[in-house]
Amino acid sequence: MKILVLNAGSSSIKYQLFEMPEKNVLLAGSVEKIGEASSLVNHKIYQQDGTEKKHEENGVISGHSDALKRIFSLLLDAEWGVIREAKEISAVGHRVVHGGEKFSKPTLLSSEVLEELRKISYLAPLHNPANIRGIEVALEIFPDSVQVAVFDTAFHQSMPDYAFRYAIPERFYRENGLRAYGFHGTSHQYVSREAARFLSIDESRFNAISVHLGNGCSITAISNGISVDTSMGLTPLGGLIMGTRSGDIDPSLILFLEKHLNMTPEQVDKLLNKESGLKGLAGSNDLREVIDRYQHQDPAAQLAVEMYVYRIKKYIGAYAATLGRLDALIFTAGVGENSAFIREKVCQGLEMLGIELDQDLNTAAVRETRALESASGKVKILVVPTNEELEIALQTYPLLANQ
Ligand code: AMP
Repeated sequence: MKILVLNAGSSSIKYQLFEMPEKNVLLAGSVEKIGEASSLVNHKIYQQDGTEKKHEENGVISGHSDALKRIFSLLLDAEWGVIREAKEISAVGHRVVHGGEKFSKPTLLSSEVLEELRKISYLAPLHNPANIRGIEVALEIFPDSVQVAVFDTAFHQSMPDYAFRYAIPERFYRENGLRAYGFHGTSHQYVSREAARFLSIDESRFNAISVHLGNGCSITAISNGISVDTSMGLTPLGGLIMGTRSGDIDPSLILFLEKHLNMTPEQVDKLLNKESGLKGLAGSNDLREVIDRYQHQDPAAQLAVEMYVYRIKKYIGAYAATLGRLDALIFTAGVGENSAFIREKVCQGLEMLGIELDQDLNTAAVRETRALESASGKVKILVVPTNEELEIALQTYPLLANQ
């Protein structure tokens, strides 16, 4: 059975086609700069002999409809595709950023569900409208396929109210949905399940802290296999310091910027989401570049790295305290999987929590899930490569079987 996974953003659509239940990736790609003068299509087909074939093209792709039509024609292409007609795609799994409180599970898409999604779009105005657009177009192109929405917030719907509520009057929660939702749920769910499997621990008894460090960063406390707290809140702005996002700040800072520096809400939004984080501190949102400058004694880069690491450590300490027992600390995503330097700095000084890193294991060039703790460490330290697309396919598959 073929499951197409789509991740539609405001100016890009990423896709991957899986053969399920084997979990084989048949092809993958992206259409970027949709609506710009020169859009970019990157397409890769995985051949049976284990090799990959890449195809790139530039052209004008004016909107999501054109983008998905182009993806569809590549899926059908004699050289670059693997299907002959649309109905060979059994299901389409859509990444949807915000599911509000309504959606805590993968959900079959219907006109009622789409209407609900439109209603909660105000919670994620940058992401949900683009996700919805992707769904609308996919419904036209793949009318015979089962269509499923998988939500970035869903895994965190198990958080208790004392973790997700803000200490503001209840009516803002009741009437406006203002609470912490958390994001990167498919990633935290995938890596925690994979970690429990790797350690042969029953998922329902697995306690972990998973640290997702990519362009966006978040950290989740997992108790008995479910999310009980996470660092992102109402939006993906809270918590850790990220590429361009500030993470936690005193909320009064926003009032100060608006009242005393006369910034508009739009300007503050842009400042905190696009111009802050590593970029605001050290001029670049690429941590590789910041680390390089750190090693050349650049003071701004040194402060940025110290702040980035300090914030992660604070959350690990807080979550360890709330969990009580910790089986594993999990690193994932671009930085978490690839930067031995950041993993080492994060683990430094956490020995009192039973977190002890083995230097050789930390720097070994291995791509798969692996353990990095020293022999005397009480807590397992794992790197688990995340795979949000596979998680979406895995969550879509059971709904298909029920059809
Ligand atoms: P992701 O969002 O998961 O694709 O992660 C992308 C981020 O990972 C980028 O900001 C990169 O700078 C960062 N990254 C990738 N490899 C490394 C590395 N070896 N060291 C530090 N950062 C890295």
